[in-house]
Amino acid sequence: MQTEDAWQLRSPGQEGNALESKKRLLQIIRKLKKEYPQPRTALNFSSPFELLVATIMSAQTTDAQVNRVTSVLFNKYTTIKAFADAPIKTLQKDISSVNFFNNKAKNIQASAQMLLREFNGNIPQTMAEIIRLPGVARKTGNIVLSTIYGVNEGIAVDTHVMRLSQRLGLSTYADPVRIERDLMELTPQKEWANLSHLLVLHGRNICQARKPKHAECVLRDICPSKDL
Ligand code: SF4
Repeated sequence: MQTEDAWQLRSPGQEGNALESKKRLLQIIRKLKKEYPQPRTALNFSSPFELLVATIMSAQTTDAQVNRVTSVLFNKYTTIKAFADAPIKTLQKDISSVNFFNNKAKNIQASAQMLLREFNGNIPQTMAEIIRLPGVARKTGNIVLSTIYGVNEGIAVDTHVMRLSQRLGLSTYADPVRIERDLMELTPQKEWANLSHLLVLHGRNICQARKPKHAECVLRDICPSKDL
């Protein structure tokens, strides 16, 4: 069984396996880039704060649904202060068609207030700072930092990235933090954001949770789950 120390101490056989896994991952990225030449978030936004809000809202909710809500929301609330000062019941009602809207509205408002109070209204540029915002964990932090600042501090792991990492044999874990660490070990840092977007796109289009379309998949030659 894999242990914490396995990340530091590897036998020569494990090193060989790691090298093979790295090569395979580069193949995966190459093949997926041909399918999805412009990997990026599907969330609509026109400012760093709007991306933060949309990403907080996207947990357990499809990007398409978030985009429907934000197309109205971002016309109503046009500044960080507007989100910070809104009556919370009104904000909750305004995003009530996304899952967990009560908590998400509270987190969005508390994040807006903290940004104004502690960050001069700017989105922080490091993971350590951005995850201090209420409702912001590593997944949201990774998406915002890489999209806004081109900073790759980690790899955003959502439900698609989790599923594909397991099916493609890139991680044996179910915990997103451990999956993120496995992927970071195997992937060149400049590709971290791309890998996340590519796996999300492929998960939505081909490697779906219930009925993966193995026959149409460009990864079937190198995928250990092609006969599932
Ligand atoms: S071959 Fe099947 S399981 Fe593997 S990535 Fe493609 S769709 Fe998913």
